[in-house]
Amino acid sequence: MKKTIILSDFDGTITTINVLDSLYEKFGGPGFRNHMERWRRGEISTMEEIELIFRTVKATRQDMETFLRTVDLDPGFKSLVNYCNNQDIPFAVISDGLRWYIDYILDFHDAGIPDVYAGDISFTSDGFRFDFPWYDPAYPLRSTAKPLIVKDYQQQGYSVIFIGDGLTDVEAAEVADVIYAKDVLLYEAGERGIQAQQFENMHDIYREL
Ligand SMILES: [Mg+2]
Repeated sequence: MKKTIILSDFDGTITTINVLDSLYEKFGGPGFRNHMERWRRGEISTMEEIELIFRTVKATRQDMETFLRTVDLDPGFKSLVNYCNNQDIPFAVISDGLRWYIDYILDFHDAGIPDVYAGDISFTSDGFRFDFPWYDPAYPLRSTAKPLIVKDYQQQGYSVIFIGDGLTDVEAAEVADVIYAKDVLLYEAGERGIQAQQFENMHDIYREL
């Protein structure tokens, strides 16, 4: 049997809310909403959106982490990850957001930290610094080139199950072997003729594996 890996989006997929958007809403300063709108229209990339909005943030890391503790995980996430561990199916997170809050939230919920492909933030005395190690110019609007990560696993012989909910998941869904989708991704998959299975929460996926 072909080896399988599960690659999952984080914001709105592993968590019940979009964490990055919530950080913007809670801590963004003047003009942040305009940057969000421009990102939605595809006028600026995720990297530009993150850098522009965090430039307006006055909150400290601690302020933001206090908020992160209120973020809930998908009710089926832990069952799905346990199942993967028992079956030796690797599970990794691929996110257009930031590894800092992904690690923080998973750690807070004792969920174990899988491999994470995401952007990096460092908190320095003169502000926030960003690094996007998975950026690729082939996908200039995204901070993490999700389809390239999917294809890389396929080249290693994996069948890739991809789970996502949003606009930044569309290109990965186009190349993955099996797709579970909800919300915007489900809609976009329908528009583009991408075969995707609808899920409400990860219990639905766990039951089907
Ligand atoms: Mg998402």
